[in-house]
Amino acid sequence: MINDRQTVLVTGGAGFIGSNFIQYYLRQNKEIRVVNIDKLTYAGSLKNLSGFKNDNRHTFIEGDICDEKLIHSIFLEYEISSVIHFAAESHVDNSIDNPDNFIATNINGTYILLKTAKHFWTDLTPNAQGNRFRFHHVSTDEVYGSLGEKGVFDENTPYAPNSPYSASKAASDFLVRSYHHTYGLNTVISNCSNNYGPNQHNEKLIPTIIRKALAQEAIPIYGDGTNVRDWLYVEDHCAALQKVFENGISGETYAIGGDNELSNMEVAEKICEYLDDRLPRKNGPYKDLITFVKDRPGHDYRYAINASKIKDRLGWRTKENFSSGLKKTIEHYLNLKSQEV
Ligand code: NAD
Repeated sequence: MINDRQTVLVTGGAGFIGSNFIQYYLRQNKEIRVVNIDKLTYAGSLKNLSGFKNDNRHTFIEGDICDEKLIHSIFLEYEISSVIHFAAESHVDNSIDNPDNFIATNINGTYILLKTAKHFWTDLTPNAQGNRFRFHHVSTDEVYGSLGEKGVFDENTPYAPNSPYSASKAASDFLVRSYHHTYGLNTVISNCSNNYGPNQHNEKLIPTIIRKALAQEAIPIYGDGTNVRDWLYVEDHCAALQKVFENGISGETYAIGGDNELSNMEVAEKICEYLDDRLPRKNGPYKDLITFVKDRPGHDYRYAINASKIKDRLGWRTKENFSSGLKKTIEHYLNLKSQEV
């Protein structure tokens, strides 16, 4: 059990999952302090901090995890005792167009964090090394490659990343693993499926579908729309992350999924059906806007997660099903849209 009187360095906390996690964790744990470092790339936004920006347990630092001097000074100044590492280039399509930033942030940035964490961890007492310090790497199920019609990923699935994004995440997972195996650093890795919910960047599938539908524009779906993902509501993911961070076994990995396997086409149809009721369109159902576009090169066919380990050993359960999570997500985007007007 991680001591809860501590200062946690959260990386990438102005992004989608990181910002949701900080909000969730500050609510759950009154003792925790969070230092949030984010480079504010196109994917990060200060708007995502609105739920906790006035909470004096949170400190925001605009900076790059690849900046070793900065990371060192943050550890020193704030007496960082644990890291939850979200910062990454996260969009597969961008990694296909230009992998440079993916290699820099996802691999080198993770290395800088591990190296600095080890440096400070080495000075701790043996008791503090084991009980207080923790390095949690937030990773993806995409490291496991692609499934066919059957089967599921779990913690024992061999790594077979297919895109530059997933390869960079696999490399960073292996670096984390090596720091535990070689130096004994107290690490955990969680590999989760596709998240959805408030604060997700417009470029991702669900925000794209909602945004295009609301703008009465063509809703682009890759290929024939049959690619399958296992959708996880972001707050359920945050609850899982807290369990893994606080109670996961050092050196282990945890697969996290939502038990919501849906094809991209099914996701688009569900969003359209919700909007048909909520905000009927004059020119017919929203699904008329769905348009198939040229498939992503090397598009993984299917991901699905067996999350038995985190359920059985850490007692995690999802609270949302896809309908309830989607309702919250669509209402969030409708609310944002109403504020634009
Ligand atoms: P995101 O793209 O929304 O946010 C990433 C954040 O990292 C942004 O705020 C960005 O500004 C910041 N960042 C990027 N490069 C940085 C750098 N060099 N230094 C400091 N900050 C930097 O991503 P997300 O969807 O919130 O994903 C968070 C983590 O979860 C990532 O590691 C991703 O690989 C993993 N993950 C995401 C999903 C998902 O469905 N979104 C699924 C599985 C795993």
